[in-house]
Amino acid sequence: MEYSRQVYPDAPITLVAGIELSSKFDGMLMPSPHAAGEWGIVYNKTIESVGRINFTLAHELGHYLLHRHMSPAGIQCSNRAMLDWRSQLGAIEAQANTFASFLLMPLDDFRSQIQGEDVSMDLMRHLSDRYEVSITAAILKWLGMTDRRAMLVIGKSGFVDWARSSDRLMKSAVFYRARQQTIPLPEQSLAAQRGSMVGAFAEVNHPRGVWLGNEDVREMTIFSHSNEITISLLIYPDDAPDTRWANELDEPKEWDTYDQFVAGIHGSSR
Ligand SMILES: [Zn+2]
Repeated sequence: MEYSRQVYPDAPITLVAGIELSSKFDGMLMPSPHAAGEWGIVYNKTIESVGRINFTLAHELGHYLLHRHMSPAGIQCSNRAMLDWRSQLGAIEAQANTFASFLLMPLDDFRSQIQGEDVSMDLMRHLSDRYEVSITAAILKWLGMTDRRAMLVIGKSGFVDWARSSDRLMKSAVFYRARQQTIPLPEQSLAAQRGSMVGAFAEVNHPRGVWLGNEDVREMTIFSHSNEITISLLIYPDDAPDTRWANELDEPKEWDTYDQFVAGIHGSSR
């Protein structure tokens, strides 16, 4: 509120409050019905997670800074919208989320937190505590920065609710299009074992064939207390299968030819 008054005195934010909204919505940016030019940021009071509330506030601030001119009637944001970090369709939602993620998890600090650390759910919990965001938001941020081949899979009632692959995993064409079709969680996956695991955390190394992509996968899964939700972080091998095949190919003749060819190039350039 202080910042908006200083920078945009004609359009300040004069209200930040929790209000009981329908469970469909996490928050909204709204023009004041009483005072022309003033804005309010509202989050859904029924949400209990501090992390989600923080993220919603930052997301709505993003809308205020980026989109208030194009949406004079305000913007209502569903809980789905908070998870859309890339979609073209919901471009303004993705922009507000990107803004929120950089505001709450500053890049330099985030980098120094993950540098040299092994990927683990403990690390994700640490990030979620440090920045007071949900573990999902911390994992999404990590996925957006990592060079690892990794995927976040949110399971709901035994199905893939939505999923997000890191850029490097996308490049090897391993990703779910969960919103267009109904995909059950793989039968052998930890995520599918939720019945007995409510409130727990588990980790396992799967052989190929369990998860998408026919590769070995390390799966780390949190089983939420409520809503039958599972949060799975999948870590794939650093090299995609094609690359590893190339390394394992045993064709010395061809390699000799290649070596000579390369030697020839080096020779002629000297
Ligand atoms: Zn929004």
